Amino acid sequence: MTNLIECSAAAYSCPLLIKHLLNSALLRAPEQEIVYRSQARFSYRDFRDRVGRLASGLTKLGVQSGDTVGVMDLDSHRYLECFFAVPMMGATLHTINVRLSPEQILYTINHAKDDVILVNGEFLPILEKIWDRVEGVKALVLLDDGGERAKTTLSLAADYETLLAGADPDFVFPDLDEDTRATTFYTTGTTGLPKGVYFSHRQLVLHTMALRNAITGTGHGRLNDGDVYMPVTPMFHVHAWGFPYVATALGLKQVYLGKYSPDLVLDLIAREKVTFSHCVPTILQMILAHPRAAEGMLNGWKVIVGGAALPRALAKEAMRRGIDITTGYGMSETCPVLTLAHLRPEHEGWDVDRQVEVRIKAGRPIPLVDIRVVDTEMRDVPADGTTPGEIVARAPWLTQGYLRDPANSDKLWLGGWLHTGDIGVIGADGYLKITDRLKDVIKTEGEWVSSLDIEDLIIKHPGVCEAAVIGIPDPKWTERPLAIVVRKEGSSVSDSEIKAGLQDYARKGVISRYAVPDQIVFVPALPRTSVGKLDKKVLREQFRDYAAAPSASAVSGATRASPVERPTQYA
Ligand code: AMP
Repeated sequence: MTNLIECSAAAYSCPLLIKHLLNSALLRAPEQEIVYRSQARFSYRDFRDRVGRLASGLTKLGVQSGDTVGVMDLDSHRYLECFFAVPMMGATLHTINVRLSPEQILYTINHAKDDVILVNGEFLPILEKIWDRVEGVKALVLLDDGGERAKTTLSLAADYETLLAGADPDFVFPDLDEDTRATTFYTTGTTGLPKGVYFSHRQLVLHTMALRNAITGTGHGRLNDGDVYMPVTPMFHVHAWGFPYVATALGLKQVYLGKYSPDLVLDLIAREKVTFSHCVPTILQMILAHPRAAEGMLNGWKVIVGGAALPRALAKEAMRRGIDITTGYGMSETCPVLTLAHLRPEHEGWDVDRQVEVRIKAGRPIPLVDIRVVDTEMRDVPADGTTPGEIVARAPWLTQGYLRDPANSDKLWLGGWLHTGDIGVIGADGYLKITDRLKDVIKTEGEWVSSLDIEDLIIKHPGVCEAAVIGIPDPKWTERPLAIVVRKEGSSVSDSEIKAGLQDYARKGVISRYAVPDQIVFVPALPRTSVGKLDKKVLREQFRDYAAAPSASAVSGATRASPVERPTQYA
């Protein structure tokens, strides 16, 4: 006996394909606009025409189903065209991370086996540097904004606009198996070579629909008809968190930035009436710090912040400016969205101080996401908001492995759950809070100390701009926290002031007394990864030989004389 449904021979089973997202957008909003800086403006109808032309043009260049097309572009309407045309023709879109080093870019191009690369003139010098070692790329297509043509020693098969102009808009996109690989890109871990993750049509459609379900409707921070969407996270990084697919499926006006600058972000928000964006905390901080981001200008802007912990002080400042802020959590391996920290109706009447505590959590799972917080034996830790464990997940859209890397794939999926490598706590209300990365967590005196909690408290000090806390080896206590701090311009805050503040928090029980760093080092700036996150890998390397201070005083937290502000290369 089986309950499998019967299918009429005439029925269309409608596989979950990216082309269906585009088709429904065309039915909803054919005249809606897609804008690229002040350089281009298209309707969705034009967009569909250009997507067809791009597929026809790529076919002329020899791209077939099963091939891989690499893209090195700034955020643009062209990138959005690639998001659709390349997977819809049965090829895989490789969104090349242009902020990696040339050697890493070379590795990703060869490992992904790119057949054709679409490259912005701005990135030609990178390709020139590595071209003699690039394997198997049959053609290069130049992307530019119509200015002076980039000079290059490389042989270009076409430029994008000429390719589109001479191509047929009526490309017939085939019905594919929904498990066909649609996209791939690389994530850089703390060690080793970049790792390729990949997503199928089915996964991207389900991620789009679940995210759309979670993000639309009533309540704070929602995205609905009438909103204007502008991503401020790069399109090469996890499809700009999947939001361009959601915005297209909803038929919203979309605005693309090209090269980021706070000035341009502010210009476009004002000119195009942008209402919804997403970014990492650093970018939000840069925008808020800009002199033109005057009071009132950002009022009503809805922003999802993710990719790193949203510091409480930054969230409060954003709220003070009228920004409707929400945290999101996920990672490259998870397509990316797992959770969103929307307020529940009972939170809406709370004051800012209480609300901010909800808004900066990682939030609750979006539909179809199953999350657990587990100990090292994969047992669920209590949902008490205080017991930490590793976050593991299941959802229909998680990468099923790392590209051509079975050993790391097995580790990622140990026990049938995707291991995020993040440490978190889950409350009785179901809200998840990230407290650390597994590799960043500081183990001292047999306790796990959350570096994020200490950082958050340090940057509450009005004289502190940024802070990072890492563990440094200690023969007695395993590790001790070291705080690396950037002062605000003009501030002369001292290490003993910061320490005294932290000791006060420890006395009040906000953090454990082991969490108070015995050393605080001042630096002019903190290192960032290619997507603007704090790079603790670099910090750990820079401070590798930095010896922990005498530990007894560290844990007693009282007597040790103010540690020296080392006049090293970091200061
Ligand atoms: P990536 O794969 O580069 O997108 O990085 C994903 C990692 O960023 C996660 O595993 C987390 O460590 C971190 N991350 C993402 N969102 C958050 C968040 N809301 N709070 C804290 N960390 C986050």
